[in-house]
Amino acid sequence: MSKMKYDVVVVGGRIAGSVSSLFASRGGADVLMIEKRQEIGTPVQCAEGTTPATFETLEMKPSKRFVASKIDGADVHAPDGRKFQIAGENSKGYILERKIFDKDLAVESAKSGTDIMMKTTVKDLIIRDGKVCGVVAEHMGKSVEIEADLVIAADGVESRVAKMAGLNTTKLPGDIYSCAQYEVVGLNTPPNWLKFYFGEEIAPGGYAWIFPKGKHRANVGLGIRGSNKTAYSYLQKFMSQFSATPVELKVGGVPLSGVVSKTFTDGLMVVGDAAGQVDPITGGGIHLAAACGRMAGEVAAEAVEVGDSSSKFLKKYEDIWSEKIGGNLETSLKYRRILDKLTDKDINIIVEFLETQDFEAISKLAALKFMGKHPNLLKVLKEIL
Ligand SMILES: Cc1cc2nc3c(=O)[nH]c(=O)nc-3n(C[C@H](O)[C@H](O)[C@H](O)COP(=O)(O)OP(=O)(O)OC[C@H]3O[C@@H](n4cnc5c(N)ncnc54)[C@H](O)[C@@H]3O)c2cc1C
Repeated sequence: MSKMKYDVVVVGGRIAGSVSSLFASRGGADVLMIEKRQEIGTPVQCAEGTTPATFETLEMKPSKRFVASKIDGADVHAPDGRKFQIAGENSKGYILERKIFDKDLAVESAKSGTDIMMKTTVKDLIIRDGKVCGVVAEHMGKSVEIEADLVIAADGVESRVAKMAGLNTTKLPGDIYSCAQYEVVGLNTPPNWLKFYFGEEIAPGGYAWIFPKGKHRANVGLGIRGSNKTAYSYLQKFMSQFSATPVELKVGGVPLSGVVSKTFTDGLMVVGDAAGQVDPITGGGIHLAAACGRMAGEVAAEAVEVGDSSSKFLKKYEDIWSEKIGGNLETSLKYRRILDKLTDKDINIIVEFLETQDFEAISKLAALKFMGKHPNLLKVLKEIL
């Protein structure tokens, strides 16, 4: 078994991993990022939509290299076919080409000094006196021991690494969107507009989407929960109404349970999907993986500089993300629980109301008056709040 030594080892080479390693390297740490696949960014398991905040966090420009579409707004379709429109400054966003975006992030990280090992799977942690001191990985059939002051687990929704350090990162099946998506060519859909579809028949426990990727391509997909049929079978049914040619099938899971109860321990931090840092309503995790990746990377560099990667020091990471995004995620989880209780009929009624409103300027009075007319909706709200 060969041996290596780094200040920081990052497990996982997509957004959370590349951003953590980028900011740890920029902060002066000697960093190794490990990715089990042979290429960064593939296979894509994402609808690729994100907000301008991602680029602000990363202090980079939304380059044409990896922006497939700029988005101005969205249509939200109720089960009965009614729809309302979301538009305005807060609705602007981007559809990325993640194969390029993710790899560009890894390239940036490498340019800042990060070493990268591909086709290398972390199998175990080195733990001494209760503190994580490195990883044991398998590279091309050979076992490698890599010592480190600290490890960042950025290994995605199926994360095992943080669990090996004793953190509870288990996500229950009822809290995971099971997703299937085609990238298609030739769909007749506006290039700057998203479409969302709700309904038990379309995507039980979730929703379906159409995200355009320029004029000719689009991601058409859905996420479901609590069904005994597969997401793929719902996708086949949803697609049957459109005329378009699939060029790629993407599948994957999205954790919706909110952030895990603890995101650090002696010698280890957990970040991105692995930590449940995903919006529990939309399932969006790109911006949160980038934001929390940056926070973890910066705290890692500080820990190396002061020579303290104890749990006591790394708590700083949890304090920072809790302050910056914790409140929003909790609110979103609360709203998701409300949505979970709504029937198709309830959603039809809500959309009937929203059809008549300017989404960015809905008055509390109008909403309350509307609720007053629909006791079932009020009952759901009272149960939750
Ligand atoms: C179908 C679908 C659609 C989505 N659409 C959107 C969207 O439109 N917008 C949005 O914001 N979010 C979306 N998401 C969520 C988003 O993709 C994730 O939140 C984001 O990719 C999380 O990044 P991450 O780096 O934390 O994890 P991942 O992207 O899962 O990366 C984890 C990496 O770790 C590697 N790895 C795992 N275990 C090991 C190991 N033991 N050793 C070495 N490497 C390992 C994996 O190979 C992988 O490359 C979607 C998700 C799905 C499934």
